[in-house]
Amino acid sequence: MKRDEMRGKISTVMGLIEPKELGFTLAHEHLVMDFRPACLDLGYASDRHLAMQPISLNNLEWIRKHRFSVLDNLLLLDEQEAIEETILFRNEGGEAIVELSNPGLGRDPLSLARVSRATGVHVVMGAGYYTSTRSHGEKVEKMGVDDLVEEFVGEINHGVGDTGIRPGVLGELGCVWPLAATERKVLQAAGMTQKLTGIPINIHPGRDQRAPMEILQILSESGADLSHVMMSHIDRTLMTHESRVEVLKTGCSIIYDSIGREGYFDLEIIIDIPNDNYRINHIMKLVDEGFSDRILLSCDVCTKDMRVKYGGHGYVHIPKYFVPLMKRKGVSDDVIKKLVVENPARILTIF
Ligand SMILES: [Zn+2]
Repeated sequence: MKRDEMRGKISTVMGLIEPKELGFTLAHEHLVMDFRPACLDLGYASDRHLAMQPISLNNLEWIRKHRFSVLDNLLLLDEQEAIEETILFRNEGGEAIVELSNPGLGRDPLSLARVSRATGVHVVMGAGYYTSTRSHGEKVEKMGVDDLVEEFVGEINHGVGDTGIRPGVLGELGCVWPLAATERKVLQAAGMTQKLTGIPINIHPGRDQRAPMEILQILSESGADLSHVMMSHIDRTLMTHESRVEVLKTGCSIIYDSIGREGYFDLEIIIDIPNDNYRINHIMKLVDEGFSDRILLSCDVCTKDMRVKYGGHGYVHIPKYFVPLMKRKGVSDDVIKKLVVENPARILTIF
């Protein structure tokens, strides 16, 4: 399919749709994913024993504090479970999910199409590679920037393999801090691919306040239009208002995507993380300063303990709890509509 046929539309796993059809959207999620490459080793034998146990009510609190060390917790392999959790979201008014599980994490176009068909929720699928440590491997190491562009453009125009299912976004493109050489290559290829195809880009920045600006510079030098770039994980990366404003001033959009995570990020990954009330305070301050057009929301459900079935908050959290909380704290209906409907529709549109 040529760029002219896709321009002005959003590419979902069920085909192209008009931006106005998208509706209430979560901008950064995972529905079916094998997150094993992210598994952290706790070292001690007795801890490893605990980390090998399946998730249950008995170990849920321990898992919440070590969520990235527990093998079972990192396996979102059950399509039926993804459907059930998506239906909870839909039943509270949810209409679209951006699914950013990369090829190295078991990206599954046909499964995403089945989830979309079973639930009626639009699913926009990702492309490209996650971090060098968790997804690149020898394959990406050997590829040149042009090889990567060829692969990305091929998927965007013709679909993944012989599935005929096309990605609607390049991402989440993973970066560590300091940025790895192969990650720089993927970013350059992403900028060039966007220039050729008009596809939006989603970034997973390294865990450092300086990471987003460095990445945006590489993208922009490679030809990307930053008004179609989304910077994920803002609530664990940019801890000051000033740093958020600096990033927004480049023209890119930011995603608050740890919404619903209120306690430990993980004991092994020490990160300051705000709760939902603070997130809303941050957002209100940015809205006051004129940035309401460039903020998006999501929960980045990437482990079992974040799902409703296992005592977590799930995709349903934003329509069911976060939107009402925003209203009670004084965010207007017009602004809320921008964050969950209008901004995703505009930014995800192929240009
Ligand atoms: Zn993610």
